[in-house]
Amino acid sequence: MKEQYADIIVDISHEKLDRPFQYRVPERLRDVLEVGMCVTVPFGNGNKLIKGYVTALGEQCKFDPAKTKDIAGIVQKGVSVEDKMIALAGWIRKSYGSTMIQALKTVLPAKQSVKQLEHKRLERRMNPEEIRSLSGECERKHQTAKARLLREFLEQETIPKEWVTGKLGISTSTIRSLEQAGAIREVSETSYRNPVKLTNVAEHRNTLSDAQRQIVEAVIGDFDEGKKGTFLIHGITGSGKTEVYMQLIEEILSRGKQAIVLIPEIALTYQTLLRFYRRFGDRVSVMNSTLSPGEKYDQCERAKKGEIDVIIGPRSALFTPFPNIGLIVIDEEHESSYKSEATPKYHARETAMEVARLHGASVVLGSATPSLEAYYRARQGEYRLFTLKERLTGGTLPAVSIVDLRQELKEGNRSIFSRKLQELLADKLSKGEQSMLFLNRRGYAGFISCRSCGEVMKCPHCDVSLSEHHGGHLLCHYCGYSEPKPALCPKCGSKYISGFRAGTQQIEEKLRELFPGVRTLRMDADTTRTRDSYEKILSAFANGEADVLIGTQMIVKGHDFPKVTLVGVLAADLSLSVGDYRAGERTFQLLTQAVGRAGRGTLPGEAVIQTYQPEHYAVVHAASQSYEEFYEEEIIYREMMEYPPVSHMLAVQIFAKEEQNGKQLAERLSAVVKSMMGQHEAAVEKLQVIGPAPASIAKINDIFRFVFYVKHPKYDRLVQIKDVLEEKCAMMQTGAESVQFDFDPMNTM
Ligand code: ADP
Ligand code: ZN
Ligand code: ZN
Repeated sequence: MKEQYADIIVDISHEKLDRPFQYRVPERLRDVLEVGMCVTVPFGNGNKLIKGYVTALGEQCKFDPAKTKDIAGIVQKGVSVEDKMIALAGWIRKSYGSTMIQALKTVLPAKQSVKQLEHKRLERRMNPEEIRSLSGECERKHQTAKARLLREFLEQETIPKEWVTGKLGISTSTIRSLEQAGAIREVSETSYRNPVKLTNVAEHRNTLSDAQRQIVEAVIGDFDEGKKGTFLIHGITGSGKTEVYMQLIEEILSRGKQAIVLIPEIALTYQTLLRFYRRFGDRVSVMNSTLSPGEKYDQCERAKKGEIDVIIGPRSALFTPFPNIGLIVIDEEHESSYKSEATPKYHARETAMEVARLHGASVVLGSATPSLEAYYRARQGEYRLFTLKERLTGGTLPAVSIVDLRQELKEGNRSIFSRKLQELLADKLSKGEQSMLFLNRRGYAGFISCRSCGEVMKCPHCDVSLSEHHGGHLLCHYCGYSEPKPALCPKCGSKYISGFRAGTQQIEEKLRELFPGVRTLRMDADTTRTRDSYEKILSAFANGEADVLIGTQMIVKGHDFPKVTLVGVLAADLSLSVGDYRAGERTFQLLTQAVGRAGRGTLPGEAVIQTYQPEHYAVVHAASQSYEEFYEEEIIYREMMEYPPVSHMLAVQIFAKEEQNGKQLAERLSAVVKSMMGQHEAAVEKLQVIGPAPASIAKINDIFRFVFYVKHPKYDRLVQIKDVLEEKCAMMQTGAESVQFDFDPMNTM
């Protein structure tokens, strides 16, 4: 019988993961030992017994077999924070496909030499009255940035400097000039304990409505009875979900447990953070991408030591090493950013349930437009569903018009703006109200094509269309390749070669032609390249520095603009036509959010949806903001086509430097799955294989991509198939090619 060997890490830290030690698996442990288990091994010259974790098993000895020591024994499952992290990594590895090392790197923070980080704060030097009058003065002089910063100091005495320059988008020169005026001063401190000091710590607390109270009672009631389930709160923005989360967190903290709140980074606004700080003071901490690895590590240490008990952050905040998690909240649970794009491609919603299982915690999901997955599970009785119907912030749902663009063309209007939209824009401008124009295209800027032969200019490395930039050159958004714009079509020589005039930049230009003097702001991938620009544009718009905000889907998330009374969706179809089974769902979510942007304040709002498919159910139900009706139609489509959440789908992605090799590997692997179709009696007719085919972006950075899909009603069966494929790949020793797995993919583009 062949010997078996195990890779073992003896020090659970991100840095030591790449240096496992190899041990022999003694015969008595052969059939029981699994990746992820905790074992004892003799270590060093003295053969002292220490704890270690298995990261891989194999038959090859990498060193001298005579010198390789035996594993001493298996340690029973422990309850330490580390054991839970290992168990979680093991689950992620198994459920999503990756090595144990990749999974561990996902859940463990990278250690960084935590230098004494110097943090700068801004402190108020005037009393609130003086601040108020100075702010008024700045307002009159149109020094909007100064006024904006001063207003923040009405509420708190001190604000971390990076919030001011980051989240608030205030420049250093503005800060300097307020320092010179004696209004504020900059101070340094070496710890990161109190991000905010509040003027009035005793914060105002809302009495919960009946509907809110029922949710809190249900979740806490179940928690206390030991039935720790999953709850879905379906409620539009402003219906009081966050208030419910905060009450739940308070209850959980009073039971000596910790809470994790996941919020998509883009929605993690300064206002939301303040609400949490006001309520929980310095027991709460924030994790976001602006933190350095050192700061993240520091936070994890604080969580382990029990110095904080609430963390707010994006997907990765789920891996905060709290000893006793009682509650995990996932706000805006439908957001695609909850799915990791790197291997292991885990979904935060499913992973949260595993974390909750390990800790005995409850999970609360919230959304205005729940994912089909969550709503389906709620319907199946797996989650308890609650609905919050009223908008507590006032405002009414906007009046929505759907404009048929085919009709516009027929009647001679060739402009990007329908007559209805032009009319309303003129009206809002004359009244001094604000508008938002939303271009519903996912990531693709205006491409260049030939009107005569249809040729589209593409990147030679990435197989995506190039987009036109100022100065007449063409640019690839994946790899940065650029070339001059040709005067004649390279294929047919025609001179009718031009852009598809629907980038945000073109819309801005057309708008200015139509309404000379209109003040515009533009938000897209180009204008938000730097870290702070996103917040800067939003706060400038909130301050009334522009009449119209033009942007991609970025502008429909988060932020409230009470002065916006008109939202125009320029081409609803651009996301409907995407070749992806979630296109309808995504379009519905985007349109619902976009329409909901109008009329948040005291003035009633209006919205215009321009489309070539005015009868499409995603468009119709988004216009009337009726989620249930949309769900009923969408779920029929998923059932018919056997797509998630009704069935499950595994994308097997093959990456190769040589096109031929990639193609061959894809064919071999898909053949392996096809040959399994007859094996499982009950599953014979249920297993489907689609493809292989070149991925829709067939080449990125000169790496060829192929993909095939496997569908099956049972997730576990897909996991088995993944295991078989992983084994096959290991046996074939695919060197130059690599294979990735994506379960229930969010994006098949
Ligand atoms: P959501 O998270 O669903 O967008 P929020 O919890 O932020 O909703 O509530 C929207 C607004 O209503 C907030 O300004 C909040 O302070 C207020 N609010 C929430 N619950 C209540 C309540 N029970 N009574 C009064 N105001 C409330
Ligand atoms: Zn041509
Ligand atoms: Zn490219």
